[in-house]
Amino acid sequence: MTNLDDFQVCEGDLDEETFKRYQQADVLAVDTETMGLIPQRDRLCLVQVCDAQGLVTAIPIAKGQTTAPYLTQLMEDQKIVKIFHYARFDVAQFQHTFGVLTQPIFCTKIASKLARTYTSSHGLKALVQELEGIELDKSSQSSDWGNVSNLSLEQLSYAANDVRYLISLREKLMEMLGREERLELAYRCFQCLPVFVDLDLSHFKDIFQHK
Ligand code: MN
Repeated sequence: MTNLDDFQVCEGDLDEETFKRYQQADVLAVDTETMGLIPQRDRLCLVQVCDAQGLVTAIPIAKGQTTAPYLTQLMEDQKIVKIFHYARFDVAQFQHTFGVLTQPIFCTKIASKLARTYTSSHGLKALVQELEGIELDKSSQSSDWGNVSNLSLEQLSYAANDVRYLISLREKLMEMLGREERLELAYRCFQCLPVFVDLDLSHFKDIFQHK
């Protein structure tokens, strides 16, 4: 299952050549691997970026690293849509670690929830299985990402696959959303994401709930 074609590792930030290449993109798929689910406690370990031609770059982030100028410039570039699966988490990580607000955003999990109302399975694995017909190996999901300069091939391969299908998923989900007349609602949801990120980073929980 290991497919490391069109894959590279850039320590700490993109190199200039890859940055310039990604800067020309309309869309980039992005994912992160971290030590856990709480940005203030669990540091960012790896960022994966993939363009429409399928070039995946894995960027190990050193402990204590607070800047990645090329990467963050792409995250803030208004001309490039950043595609995440569950953007709320990755965008919070970027805001906490690098102090940048990522936008514009497309979240395949929100898109799936709005388009695929016939199922409650909105995880990346289920989505890739149904829309791409590919079985994702998620066995490295809960592994130790902290040893950033010495990640295993299995971990890197897993990390690359987490971004490899997002651009194609977005196209298929946009088609479904268009058909169901929910595309505009999806975009309005994406525009709310910075608010949810701020609430999450300030430890507010469920403030839209009645209770
Ligand atoms: Mn991932």
